[in-house]
Amino acid sequence: MTVTIDAESGFCFGVTSAIRKAEEELQNGQLFCLGDIVHNGQEVERLERLGLETIDYERLRELRGGRVLLRAHGEPPSTYDIARRNGVEVIDASCPVVKKLQDRIRETYRLHPEAQIVIFGKPGHAEVIGLQGQTGNTAIVVESEADLDKLEPARDVYLFSQTTMSVEAFRRIAEAIRGRVHGLLEYHDTICRNVANRVEKLQAFARAQDLVVFVGGEKSSNAKVLFGHCRNANSGTIFVSSPEEITCKRLQQAAGSVPPETMKIGICGATSTPLWLMEECKKRIEQVWNTKSRQ
Ligand code: SF4
Repeated sequence: MTVTIDAESGFCFGVTSAIRKAEEELQNGQLFCLGDIVHNGQEVERLERLGLETIDYERLRELRGGRVLLRAHGEPPSTYDIARRNGVEVIDASCPVVKKLQDRIRETYRLHPEAQIVIFGKPGHAEVIGLQGQTGNTAIVVESEADLDKLEPARDVYLFSQTTMSVEAFRRIAEAIRGRVHGLLEYHDTICRNVANRVEKLQAFARAQDLVVFVGGEKSSNAKVLFGHCRNANSGTIFVSSPEEITCKRLQQAAGSVPPETMKIGICGATSTPLWLMEECKKRIEQVWNTKSRQ
């Protein structure tokens, strides 16, 4: 039996560097984080054990002094204003890719105040709030074609995308806007390739295994979506949130008739799954399998 962890799974570099920054800054004393640093409860708990305290906007408004880490999703200018007013030091861990996108949107808004800035993304998502903030919250957020009624056909459109959307869906929405708007349509595919190409790579990994253990948070929407793609590629895929959920029975059921001696087991995860958790799952698989073979 071989157990392989998918090298392409887990945190993107933006999240990895935000976590590294949090770990470094925690060595200098108390540190708050505005919102969960990542959508993975176990990783949040691990950092909380190191002293990181997650706060919301209400708490930020009440803070006087102290240090607040801004996570990879980025923040609107209003967050920096609140911190400045309250004497709070900002540790900015915004992903450089998101920062660059914020700059582009802000500059486009400055140059074309009469146009419609459109963001293809999920309304209310932290990154989208940060992007909208670059336009004084005038940018129009669209998630699907049903939202296109919000656009005025006679006005020019500058279209951008939240970094984690699907490339195909972005192309479709750009086409749909082209069919409605009489003015100029300038669109920028600002999707981060760090996650956009994950599905194909994940499916290729899953196909090469006899059995796949997908590790993801129960509440993570990204985990649910990627698990679905993984199972489409390999029906012998099981979902776990922690190593304890891996049992010999579950592995055997998923493996079907593949002989245990030659079995290839793959471990993969969502963009919010930490590597250490996948490594613990690997240990657990080896442990339950060895226990079984001694019986
Ligand atoms: S822009 Fe890409 S690298 Fe940065 S946080 Fe988003 S997904 Fe991760």
